[in-house]
Amino acid sequence: MKKTISFSIFSACLIIIFVNTAAADDTQGTTKGWKAGVSRVVITPQEPIWMAGYGSRDHVSEGTLHDLWVKALAIEDAKGKKVLLITSDLLGFPKKMSDRIRNQIGAKYGLTRAQIILSCSHTHSGPVLQDALSDIYPLDTKQKEVIKKYSANLEKQIVTLAGEAIRSLVPAQLYAQNGVTRFQVNRRNNVEKTISEVTDLNGPNDYAVPVLKVMNEAGNLMAVVFGYACHATVLSIYHLSGDYPGFAQIELEKMHPGITAMFFQGAGADQNPLPRRTVYLAQQYGRELAAAVDRVLSEEMRILAPSISTAYSEIRLPLSKPPTREELIKMEEESSGSQKRWATHQLELLRENGSLMTSYPYPVQIWKLGDQPIMALGGELVVQYAIELKKLFGQETFVMGYANDDMAYIPSETILEEGGYEGDTSQKVYGMPSKWAPDIQKLILKEFEKLAVKAGVQHITQ
Ligand SMILES: [Zn+2]
Repeated sequence: MKKTISFSIFSACLIIIFVNTAAADDTQGTTKGWKAGVSRVVITPQEPIWMAGYGSRDHVSEGTLHDLWVKALAIEDAKGKKVLLITSDLLGFPKKMSDRIRNQIGAKYGLTRAQIILSCSHTHSGPVLQDALSDIYPLDTKQKEVIKKYSANLEKQIVTLAGEAIRSLVPAQLYAQNGVTRFQVNRRNNVEKTISEVTDLNGPNDYAVPVLKVMNEAGNLMAVVFGYACHATVLSIYHLSGDYPGFAQIELEKMHPGITAMFFQGAGADQNPLPRRTVYLAQQYGRELAAAVDRVLSEEMRILAPSISTAYSEIRLPLSKPPTREELIKMEEESSGSQKRWATHQLELLRENGSLMTSYPYPVQIWKLGDQPIMALGGELVVQYAIELKKLFGQETFVMGYANDDMAYIPSETILEEGGYEGDTSQKVYGMPSKWAPDIQKLILKEFEKLAVKAGVQHITQ
């Protein structure tokens, strides 16, 4: 918005100046009218706990590489509309927990679901949460209790944190831009053990590093929100950590003392950091990502005008035909380990409810901060969704996966047809009764077209 004061009457001048200050002023290269508040809390478990993400772990955590965090960024626009982004060094929020947290935050601070994003880094070196992937972990009663206690406390911590971020709102400036780094490898279309021998890696990929910069009124960096689409699976040891996203946040906070660095996971469900499995590699990828973010922070970024629009919905994503009681009984008798636990669990659900789930309420969300669209989708989102959403809404779009609910993998049409882990067998890991129906990609993208109209996000072909 241009500041044009050409009135000679003093009172008129005052009115114009007042209006401009309250709205926007980019004549100096700065935008006024935003407010931002940041808060953070350590969530490192205080006693040994089962670690999330791999079904193959056979005992509890043995120590900690670095602390785990939940961090909150509250943003308010020139009209007083707020949004709240929560990021975490966790694998994923199960629906029940996410609903409870968002309901409490909504009731206490007057925010709708559209105004809250509950995000996680998908670290595979964090704690198991209650009601999350319960069929794959061989948990005894003692561990179930530890997890229950930890999860209940975590919920309280997050709700408190949200209030702290909202209460600490101060005048701020917001900027956005995408950077790039290329350590993600498409894990479906490349063979991990041959990575060191091949010269051409197969895609698809999305190497974008979305960056949101938050400066205070004095022009000092307060917080940086950044993302990357790649599984946080460098490590599979028994020490708690945020994996490469944890190291990236630590690195950025070292580079810029006093700031809060917040990571969100992108559409990285079919991307792995390869090679992997050493702490030094996790540090290396963390530093690579931090360097990519720092480059963006150093160069000119797009200034965001102080306006927020939001849209959220839960769509009924259909599942394919569930197994019959007879098929489940056969599997329970003939299989072992997690397969057997899954069959037993499905039979229980069948007994309780009379039928198995045939669809799932899948959360999709858009924020528009100034002209920056942010698309947040639940579940383990494969990279094709980022590619498709950017085709529709522009390459500068930020895409978050694993947001608000981590219920399953969300395969593309192609992956669903191909099958394999992300398209088929992971459904059992998540306790789903069957594969997704073939048309979920179309349904999700169609819903984004609708939400975009609501949030005022322009379709790129319009
Ligand atoms: Zn995963």
